Amino acid sequence: MTDTHCPYCSLQCGMTLTVSKQSQRGPALEVAARTQRNQHSPVNEGALCRKGWTAGGLRGSRERLTTPLVRDRATGELSAVGWDEALDLIASRLSAVRAEHGADATAVFGGGGLTNEKAYALGKFARLALGTSQIDYNGRWCMSSAASAGNQAFGVDRGLPFPLADIEQADVVVLIGSNLAETMPPAARHLDELKARGGKVVVIDPRGTPTGDRADLFLQPVPGADLPLALGLLHLVDAAGAVDHDYVDARTTGFEEARTRAASWWPERVERVTGVSSDELRELAALVMSSKKVMFLTARGAEQHADGTATVLAWLNLALALGLPGRPYAGYGCLTGQGNGQGGREHGQKADQLPGYRMIDNPEARAHVAGVWGVDPAVIPGKGRSAYELLDSLGSDVKALLVFASNIVVSAPNASHITERMQSLDFLVVADIVMSETAALADVVLPVTQWAEESGTMTNLEGRVIKRNQAVTPPDGVKSDLDIIVGLASRLDAPSTWSTDPETVFTELRAASAGGKADYAGITYARIEAEDGVYWPCPTEDHPGTPRLFAEAFAHPDGRAKFIPVDYLGPAEPVSADYPVHLTTGRVLAQYQSGAQTRRIKDLPDEGAFVEMHPQLAGRLGATHGEPVQVRTRRGVMTAPAKVVDTIRPDTVFVPFHWVGANKLTSDALDPSSRMPEFKLCACEVSAER
Ligand code: SF4
Repeated sequence: MTDTHCPYCSLQCGMTLTVSKQSQRGPALEVAARTQRNQHSPVNEGALCRKGWTAGGLRGSRERLTTPLVRDRATGELSAVGWDEALDLIASRLSAVRAEHGADATAVFGGGGLTNEKAYALGKFARLALGTSQIDYNGRWCMSSAASAGNQAFGVDRGLPFPLADIEQADVVVLIGSNLAETMPPAARHLDELKARGGKVVVIDPRGTPTGDRADLFLQPVPGADLPLALGLLHLVDAAGAVDHDYVDARTTGFEEARTRAASWWPERVERVTGVSSDELRELAALVMSSKKVMFLTARGAEQHADGTATVLAWLNLALALGLPGRPYAGYGCLTGQGNGQGGREHGQKADQLPGYRMIDNPEARAHVAGVWGVDPAVIPGKGRSAYELLDSLGSDVKALLVFASNIVVSAPNASHITERMQSLDFLVVADIVMSETAALADVVLPVTQWAEESGTMTNLEGRVIKRNQAVTPPDGVKSDLDIIVGLASRLDAPSTWSTDPETVFTELRAASAGGKADYAGITYARIEAEDGVYWPCPTEDHPGTPRLFAEAFAHPDGRAKFIPVDYLGPAEPVSADYPVHLTTGRVLAQYQSGAQTRRIKDLPDEGAFVEMHPQLAGRLGATHGEPVQVRTRRGVMTAPAKVVDTIRPDTVFVPFHWVGANKLTSDALDPSSRMPEFKLCACEVSAER
């Protein structure tokens, strides 16, 4: 039996794996909720969702890749080759591109599912082995707007600055654009505990969900209207004299300007813009003014917008005005999505960052990391393009791309356009466990280990660094991403030292992060095992870790949080006569992200995409539940069965994004600060198929 964690979402539930029997395709895995040292893992306390229970299913999949594949340029066919041949070919093609077009013509695209060790090694590889500034990852599309807002307001970004279980002790929890009961079901028990204590749950979402079903107050604004809601609440809080001026004076800067910007958002104006009635807004204002134990939690529904950073900042301003962040069982948090969405952005696979959450254009940061790597700081390239902008430059500025742990063809916004850009590359390499839609385009496909076949650390949504443990040997022919990175670094004569051993890489990562905002210096594999996870920052081995941030000070040099004034500018793509319906996207319980893994697990239902719509809209269109409808936007079209429910707004349709289709429709309008695309809102036209 091996104690480890789930391969999927940011909750990183503890689980125990048992190698149950030898099948034709190797040992099978049985999953149980973890009972390490006779205690449940603190994150999930014995619960798993159906994705977790069935996670062992991919192990025996016939679709598992077990040999490198290289495309014959004449026939277009992929054929099996040995690892040396594949890595030699990649190194020689990358060298040729670099010689002809310069280092920035090579690029790397990573993923929020990579372990901390892999994310760290990948960032180092891009900068030292390829010499390119062009590296970013799909976490840019996950919660980068919350990260940007947290950095601006608090001086640091950690998804939740408190343990998830603190939810139970709050008096009011306001979920803004989160469907946690469906996306991470074990977390929903904290809401149930809160309600059992007499606390209140507020859910703000354009569509009804299992999370909304738990709400004492459910507000259903038009998609993209979370920002004016927060402005309207700040207006009411101020008008009621409920601003905590002692806190504001002692712990923050910039309140007056934020207050001025909110002043014109009286409830009737909010109602006109958001569709939330002034009575509902006043009810919510009364709730958040009723206690000092109030939490605001955002997720993708609030963040994945062209004004996602401003939206989160508006809620942060409200939280600060109420004097909440840093108080027990109160404040603001972001519910991250991907398994290592948090750690994935801390160790250098983001275009603008070096390990330890250091900014790449900061001379001190560059000197520190260069010292750990044993290179001159001048060797480290500068800031690269963000994820969407990087992909949009494929075939023009960027000629060769390496993809790790990301299924871009399904998950990129404006996906048909990005797929065309990928097809225009001179050279594409994809490392994956199965032949994903993105791997199917590659010149070289590299088969890699999956979670149960390797060890490494992840950082969950609470900033808790946990450890995955290897339960089973990988199939013959499969290698770890670390093997690939090191094999290529060696062939490309990269400076510095490189290791395929996760613990050795983690030791180097600790040194690289030391003194940074995400400081892992005091976290060791032994401590993680002994303590069931350690929260960063943890600067020394005798430091206890930091479950709760901001109790004494915020992370800006003056120790204060900043109000950042924001205005509402409206959606990047408003509805119009030709595109009169709002389109929003999201997840369903049985699938995860692009579905590359979960769609291949036979015990998970693969229902395919659907178009959720209100009976009023269905009636207007002549659409019938279960019958196909067509959704068209300025970028693409898809057809899927109508799912007619009375829990969604009549002016909005919802499409899940786990299958090819939804992201052919979505908008590539980018947030100016985080460079997050507006996945959650665009204008569409819907018609019933005849
Ligand atoms: Fe895995 Fe997330 Fe489900 Fe937990 S909630 S079992 S981490 S997918």
